[in-house]
Amino acid sequence: MSEIEFLNALKDINIILTNDQLEQLNTYYELLIEYNKVMNLTGITDKKDVYLKHFYDSLTLNKIIDLTSIDTLCDIGTGAGFPGVVLKIVFPNLKITLVDSLNKRINFLNTVIDNLKLENIEAIHERAEVFSINNIEKYDVITARAVAKLNILLELSVQAIKINGYFIAMKSNVEEEINNIDKTLEKLKCKFINKIEFKLPIENSNRTLVRIEKLDKTPSTYPRKFEQIKKKPL
Ligand code: SAM
Repeated sequence: MSEIEFLNALKDINIILTNDQLEQLNTYYELLIEYNKVMNLTGITDKKDVYLKHFYDSLTLNKIIDLTSIDTLCDIGTGAGFPGVVLKIVFPNLKITLVDSLNKRINFLNTVIDNLKLENIEAIHERAEVFSINNIEKYDVITARAVAKLNILLELSVQAIKINGYFIAMKSNVEEEINNIDKTLEKLKCKFINKIEFKLPIENSNRTLVRIEKLDKTPSTYPRKFEQIKKKPL
């Protein structure tokens, strides 16, 4: 996706970038490519692909929730910063926490944060299930792209979502995961709100955004230890 295609596709989802934001994205791209030579950050390196499959894709979160209307957002398993860093650049109103269990990725993210002089964003080296217990009901929205199955992700994260806040999963095909989620929702006191399906421009691959609301306090028995979650998903 060329820069012009990127800007036009964003207009269709109600996002208009300033020159400064475009420049920040370009610097982020250059840092990603530079650091990717010495650590494993992404398999996607061609500039047009990064703008489509990482930058544009991250911003599609705005299709399911108006990101100017919320305050705190946490990106679980952010990797090289997708979607969290892109959201911070384009929606500076957001207070963002990036969480990943791999410290070298957190070091890269801190380099990006320093370089772009981003404020109200932190990168935390922690496993999601530990992070959520230590940050109970802190976030309006928790999101995750390409990290785990829906039932596992929700158990890992749900403690840290505010009551009436949302968990939003960014997925490709999710039909089976949604069909099997009812018991998990009940145990975690959550409710399926909606999903939005669309195709990524140009390459036409499937995308699904799934929004789940936290209705009440999460029972203190969750999240369980990761080995248990993996062995016996809810
Ligand atoms: N969200 C990014 C993206 O879409 O490009 C990265 C996806 S990558 C496939 C999955 C990331 O989740 C990895 O960086 C991994 O270290 C992290 N991860 C996996 N399990 C995790 C957990 N329990 N807590 C925190 N991070 C986790």
